[in-house]
Amino acid sequence: MRHDMELPTSEKRPVRSSDRSWEEIRKEFPILQQTIREHPLAYLDNAASSQMPQDVIDRLVWYHSGEHSNVHRGVHTLSQRATNAYDQAREKVASFINAPSSKECIFTSGTTEGINLVAHGYGRPFVDEGDTIVVSALEHHSNIVPWQILCEEKGANLEVIPMNDAGELILDDFDEMLDSSVKLVCVNHVSNALGTINPIKEITDRAHKKEIPVLVDGAQAVPHMPVNVQALGADFYVFSGHKMCGPTGIGVLWAKRRWLEEMQPFQGGGDMILSVTWEGTTYNDIPFKFEAGTPSIAAAIGLGAAADYLDHIGMSRIAEREAELLTRTTERLKALGGIRCFGTASEKAGVVSFDIDGVHPHDIGTILDNEGVAIRAGHHCAQPVMDRLGIPATARASLAFYNNEADIDRLVAGLYSVKEIFGV
Ligand code: PMP
Repeated sequence: MRHDMELPTSEKRPVRSSDRSWEEIRKEFPILQQTIREHPLAYLDNAASSQMPQDVIDRLVWYHSGEHSNVHRGVHTLSQRATNAYDQAREKVASFINAPSSKECIFTSGTTEGINLVAHGYGRPFVDEGDTIVVSALEHHSNIVPWQILCEEKGANLEVIPMNDAGELILDDFDEMLDSSVKLVCVNHVSNALGTINPIKEITDRAHKKEIPVLVDGAQAVPHMPVNVQALGADFYVFSGHKMCGPTGIGVLWAKRRWLEEMQPFQGGGDMILSVTWEGTTYNDIPFKFEAGTPSIAAAIGLGAAADYLDHIGMSRIAEREAELLTRTTERLKALGGIRCFGTASEKAGVVSFDIDGVHPHDIGTILDNEGVAIRAGHHCAQPVMDRLGIPATARASLAFYNNEADIDRLVAGLYSVKEIFGV
């Protein structure tokens, strides 16, 4: 790639047909073309982190080899290129989730930082002693621990929306939970441990009747289905780049302008100020008020490219494909016998959590790895979910649109070996 010419700041994405086949799409992911332990890789750990297509990799290379400089500061050409590309990335992610304005999209380092930002920025001014934060029984630790810290500091209470054995939230008593002490409801859109898709619109409607805002952890939803933050009625919506074919170290907090205007900054430093004197500081407008210091410029641009990539394929088409793969996986595991699946919600995304009686999930993961099949074993940063199910851990296969039927066959063959080795 030569950079001695004037580079366009527009994307360099090759022209691809949006209805190309899934096998063609799979070939666009270089990492999937390798062998692991002499077997072709079957990557089924997408809920932990997804893989990057060549287009996103190329966008990062292009940025680093022709556009990199600091943003929002320099008058020179490279700084303008970097700033344009960074600002365009914000537009892309805003449009990807149908945010009313890109100014409401704050770049964070990921879902975890987005939630911590709200815990500080909203929690400090709006939560007091005796107040309540409501979280759901299905949450990832990153949507529990920041609220525990806040509640401890403020003398506030944490209450939990319960779940049933299928991994569905029980909303029967939800209205009664929402008394005047409740300052925020925090719930994930899709559970990473069980795959449950939560009824977000119903939750936001019911909370809003009591004028309570709702934070939605969209880490496992944005990569797998069309997300429209306005239609969902969320007040805060957070997600991570690395789970949606983008880079690590980048994510987004979208929030309604009203909250962002009223919230306190999370971190202080450069870029988040309008003026600083010894007498005091005036904060910058949103989104910059929440982006102190040099941001993850390259990662943000990579995330913009990932949003473009997914958008081009079409999120509805992706959701349909993953639903097919989920049905196939669930049926094949059932047919194999001796596999206990957790999370049987009627609305489910492509996560299959399971165990085999008499075999530790880590042993399942290790044996599968020997056959080139990558899954996750553990509590999935959702220990309260495991406690509720009365198990220490599960093995988890999580799907993405670039998986294929052969990956599922390989998972099943690997599990057959596990059963043979353990004689179960
Ligand atoms: N919430 C959910 C539902 C998740 O699945 C994850 C990642 N496993 C997170 C939050 C945290 O995301 P990150 O580590 O990218 O901040």
